[in-house]
Amino acid sequence: MFPVDRMPGLEVDALRTCFLRSPDFDDERSKPFDMFKTFISFAVLFAMMSNTSSPTASAQSGKAGADLIVVGGTIVTMNNARDVIENGAIAVAHGRIVAVGPRGEIEKRYFARETLDAGGRIVIPGLINGHTHIPMTLFRGLADDLDLQEWLTKYIFPAEAKNVSEEFVRAGTRLGLAEMIRGGTTTYCDMYYFEDAIADETAKAGVRGVLGETVIDFPVADNKTNAEAMAYVEKYVKRWQGNELITPAIAPHAPYTVAEDHLKAVRAFSDRTGAPIVTHISETKKEVDDSLKAKGASPIDYLERIGFLNERVIAAHVVWPSTAELEILKRLKVGVVHNPQSNMKLASGVAPVPKMLSEGLRVGLGTDGAASNNDLNMWEEMDTAAKLHKVFTGDPKVISAREAFELATIRGAQALHLDREIGSIEIGKRADLVIIDREDFNQIPLYNVYSDLVYATKAWDVLTVIINGRTVMRDRKLLTLDESAIKESARVYRERVMKSLGPQK
Ligand SMILES: [Zn+2]
Repeated sequence: MFPVDRMPGLEVDALRTCFLRSPDFDDERSKPFDMFKTFISFAVLFAMMSNTSSPTASAQSGKAGADLIVVGGTIVTMNNARDVIENGAIAVAHGRIVAVGPRGEIEKRYFARETLDAGGRIVIPGLINGHTHIPMTLFRGLADDLDLQEWLTKYIFPAEAKNVSEEFVRAGTRLGLAEMIRGGTTTYCDMYYFEDAIADETAKAGVRGVLGETVIDFPVADNKTNAEAMAYVEKYVKRWQGNELITPAIAPHAPYTVAEDHLKAVRAFSDRTGAPIVTHISETKKEVDDSLKAKGASPIDYLERIGFLNERVIAAHVVWPSTAELEILKRLKVGVVHNPQSNMKLASGVAPVPKMLSEGLRVGLGTDGAASNNDLNMWEEMDTAAKLHKVFTGDPKVISAREAFELATIRGAQALHLDREIGSIEIGKRADLVIIDREDFNQIPLYNVYSDLVYATKAWDVLTVIINGRTVMRDRKLLTLDESAIKESARVYRERVMKSLGPQK
């Protein structure tokens, strides 16, 4: 076997351009593409079969070797045609999907070291949690039932000032990673402090992340000044760029907590390094009113005016955009991440997601931090997204089950600007796969797979999780994290947090 990115005569970039279609590809353009794809598939197959240096390739009657084959079950591809393959199979080599199709066809062409049986189950692309503050799992339930400003200034910022250290961040990250893997999340987009330690824990656990180091205009746990934060980010981004799992990013907290010149410096840094920018925009009505007063423009208008927005920006929330601002986000290809449960819990409002979708924005879905949700469960988030917009608009047809599932998969990938790599089960993409069990009462019977996934499936139905071709959970057993150590350390931190807040808590 050989790495896909070192196949004879086939560069991986060429493969990506060939295989990966953007979802707005029309039929006319896709016909020659499909022919070319077939040609390339044969070329790949031939290259794999004829590689004499491989110990495995020719061992079994001309079949090509793969690292892993998932066989059987219903494969929900989320490809352009939204194909659902009954009794399908997926072959994986060197972290990427090399074949997907009917089981008989794939088994004829490939053999593998490891086979996972998905018979009677559902196989989906790994879920994408578009917005988190992962170590805040350790603040889960610390302060609830408050509005954003009171929650942040009276509870969260003081608790963070007294408790957040690199070790705290590592422990909270491991807790969050375990919870996310259990729930079938394979990629998450984060913003916190000591993000280098978060990246380290994430890579060790084998999870994919777009991980943004926070830039904010007051002293925080890891950096006391803007200069320190920018120096940290410089080193951090350099260290992780090129990693298969980690996309290092810079994360200015929000336009109301980061000054204009600092936001411009963030954009210049991103232009120079290519690092994505993770931020919060237009989360509350108050933010918009304050921005109008202080800057004479609402947040998105203001950010456009200072030249901050572009196709590397990932904006969480966007609850209060005007129609003109939606147009700006679309034109500048900004990724938007909808966080329905956090927005509901903090009574921030309801983002105009049906309008964003009909306008063709890049929209994904996120949980936000566990302190404002209070979990990292994408199944609940999909279910909530579908239902919230129905009750808010009075129209049961908005955000269908399939659209809600898209927000957590292929559209989520678009919002993170990673749709060439993840978000669907297609040849050439990273092998981020989740096998859903169908044995529990809530899963029986099944008429429509999207309905089942969005309205009936729960995190406990997730059986097996594969990220970048590596199995990180098999039959509900975490393979890269120590469950009991994670629980124990979270309980110890709970005592420390309580003590740090004094006798009133
Ligand atoms: Zn947030």
